[in-house]
Amino acid sequence: MNTTIPPLVLCLSGHDPGGGAGLQADIEAVGAQGAHALGVITALTVQDSRDVRRVEPVSAALFAEQVNLLLADSRIAAIKLGLVGSAEQVPVILDAIARSRVPVVLDPVLRAGGGSPLATTPTARAILEQLLPVATIATPNADEARRLSGAASPADCAARLLAGGCEQLLITGGDEASPEVENHWFHRDGEHEVFRWPRLAGGFHGAGCTLASALAARLALGEPPRVAVRRAQAYVHECLQRALKTGRGRAIPGRW
Ligand code: PLP
Repeated sequence: MNTTIPPLVLCLSGHDPGGGAGLQADIEAVGAQGAHALGVITALTVQDSRDVRRVEPVSAALFAEQVNLLLADSRIAAIKLGLVGSAEQVPVILDAIARSRVPVVLDPVLRAGGGSPLATTPTARAILEQLLPVATIATPNADEARRLSGAASPADCAARLLAGGCEQLLITGGDEASPEVENHWFHRDGEHEVFRWPRLAGGFHGAGCTLASALAARLALGEPPRVAVRRAQAYVHECLQRALKTGRGRAIPGRW
C-alpha cells in the first residue's frame, strides 16, 4: 500500500458521456497535476462534441448522500464546482464548503460552447447569490462574467463580482474574438494580471472544466494563488495543443 496520499479534490460536476467536459475532465486534469479527484455527479447530460441536448439533474437527496459520505470518510484539500444540477443542490454544496473549509474553485457554468443553456434561471441565480460569495476563485468565461455581473469590460465585471464576495476571479477569453486569448485575473486585494495565450485554431469542448479542475488541484497542492492560476492555464494550453478530434464537432483537450 502506498502511504503517501495525494491531495484530494472534491469535484461536483455534470457528466459528459463524450468525455470532453464535466467530471471526466476533472478526473483527468486533477490526476495530471498529481492530485486525486473524488467525483460526485450533479447531472447526467445528453450531448455530443457539438452541443448539449438535455441535462437531467441528480436528485438533491442522492447528491447529498454521496457528498456527506465522502466528507465523513476523507479529508479533502480543495473543492471544484462545475455544472450545478439544480438550485436544490446548492444548500448541500454550501454545507460541504462550510464543513471542509478548503479553497473552492467555482466554474459558473451557464451555457455550453454550442449555445445551449446548462443552468435554469433559479440555478443561475443560486450560483450568483449563494455560491459566488463563498468561492475562493471563480472562473467564468467572458460571456458568463457579463451575464452574471451585468457589466461589459473585464474590469467592470470583476468589480461587481468581487463585491459579490469571491476572493479572486479569472475571466477567460477563449470565447471572445480577440486575436490572442486574454485571461484576466483579479484579486480582491487589488492585484490584477492579464495572461495572454496564442489563440489555437479550431473550437474546443471542455477547456473551461479542465482549467477549473487543474486550478483546484494546484491549490490543493498548496501553490500560491497566482502561481496556481498561471500553471493551470499553461496546462490547459498544452492540452489544447494536443487536442483530440473525437467527433464531428469541437476537439477535446488531451489531458495526459
Ligand atoms: N457538459 C458539462 C457536464 C459541462 O460541465 C460543460 C461545461 O462546463 C459543458 C458540457 C460545456 O462545455 P463546453 O462549453 O466547453 O462545450
